[in-house]
Amino acid sequence: MLINFSAEIQFVSPYDLLTQRKNLYDQVTISYICQRILLQFFICTNIMKQDVIVIGAGIIGLATAERLLAQGAKVTILERNKTGQESSWAGGGILSPLCPWDYSDEVTRLTSYSANQFPAWISALHKASGIDPEYEVSGMLILPPFNIEIAQQWCSIRGISVEQRAISNPSSTRNGIEIYPNKTYGHALFLPDIAQVRNPRLLRALHNRVMQLGGKIIEDCTVNDLKSTHQRIKLIATSHGEFVADYYIVSAGAWSKEILGIHALKLDIKPIRGQMLLFKFNAPPVHTILVKNDLYIIPRRDGHLLIGSTLEDAGFDKQTTVSARDRLLMCAEAILPLLHKTPITRHWSGLRPASPKNIPTIGQHPIIRNLFINSGHFRYGVTMAPASAEILVNEITGAPQPFDITPYQTGWNISPDIS
Ligand SMILES: Cc1cc2nc3c(=O)[nH]c(=O)nc-3n(C[C@H](O)[C@H](O)[C@H](O)COP(=O)(O)OP(=O)(O)OC[C@H]3O[C@@H](n4cnc5c(N)ncnc54)[C@H](O)[C@@H]3O)c2cc1C
Repeated sequence: MLINFSAEIQFVSPYDLLTQRKNLYDQVTISYICQRILLQFFICTNIMKQDVIVIGAGIIGLATAERLLAQGAKVTILERNKTGQESSWAGGGILSPLCPWDYSDEVTRLTSYSANQFPAWISALHKASGIDPEYEVSGMLILPPFNIEIAQQWCSIRGISVEQRAISNPSSTRNGIEIYPNKTYGHALFLPDIAQVRNPRLLRALHNRVMQLGGKIIEDCTVNDLKSTHQRIKLIATSHGEFVADYYIVSAGAWSKEILGIHALKLDIKPIRGQMLLFKFNAPPVHTILVKNDLYIIPRRDGHLLIGSTLEDAGFDKQTTVSARDRLLMCAEAILPLLHKTPITRHWSGLRPASPKNIPTIGQHPIIRNLFINSGHFRYGVTMAPASAEILVNEITGAPQPFDITPYQTGWNISPDIS
């Protein structure tokens, strides 16, 4: 599909046609002029129609809208609640899979390509919006148990920097805080290049940027139905009435499948709850991200410390639970005993848009030509956001892709001859 949103169509007013080109009367008839006026009217009407509606103002919807706006499209985001309050807000902001060697090449390709875009992307967003998303290369220390040979080999094949660290009992951080004081000795791996961002700040910066670029965000607007005819979406019905656009992008996270309804085909995106705990210290007690199995500890610059997370199949229930809090706390205290005496500042949960093997679906619907999806990023949607936005916008405009994107288009799970 080839669309050039920024293509300039020269406006020639009917006045110009009728007055400025006097010799025109010598050469053409009035009917010719009328034809030109009609043509001009048609072109102008078509420009008005170069609209994209994005459903969902999480990190994926906002990043996609930002990229479309930068290419000259007119974009409206419809958001059921307020901007950036769901999974994207709830997440930890680690810009990497936790134990990257546990994931497929499809996940690695997308996360690495995307993570590399962060320094420039964040710096541009910070400059334009005045909000600092606190991008920080804090490194990630992965504690045993894990297969260190497989991990080292995986890193070495891909040229990823890695340092082996011996874990004694106890170890201490550079400000003398004890970590990991139990009887298990072993080797940890430190990945020095792994970075993090503060999600709520990144979302605010993106929100401002989208508005600056002329995007519209309509909050408290629930999309209820996509109405189609002749393999096209004709309009969408919302709590704020009906909306019409040329292209529709579903980026509604865990709710994407529900919104698509019958158009979801066999798309497999469902909510998986994750709970997080927050602590506050005067200064960061550790300076790197610590990971042990599925548990992670993320230090922020200002002394906040995040503990995550659970992976729970609880449907759309976003309640936090005492049992998850106790389990997170117990595992975190085993790594950082200091937490035992520290009160929890906040406990929350978010619904990740889970898809098989953590591979999102990015691209055009196989049957409905003006419908696109950018969703199903599961555990790594913040990391994958800029690259996913790039891929989707390339898909709409026909620009070349940075790598083979076929794996991100098979989520509809239908045989190729249907499309
Ligand atoms: C606890 C936790 C920790 C995480 N940690 C990390 C991490 O460290 N690193 C990382 O990369 N990723 C992490 N993630 C995953 C990441 O947060 C998600 O993959 C990402 O936020 C998905 O973004 P999204 O925009 O698709 O979804 P969301 O942020 O959920 O946005 C979807 C939006 O769609 C809106 N919507 C839904 N239905 C409708 C409707 N009918 N009409 C209009 N709007 C609608 C919602 O209100 C919402 O705002 C974590 C997630 C959780 C929950």
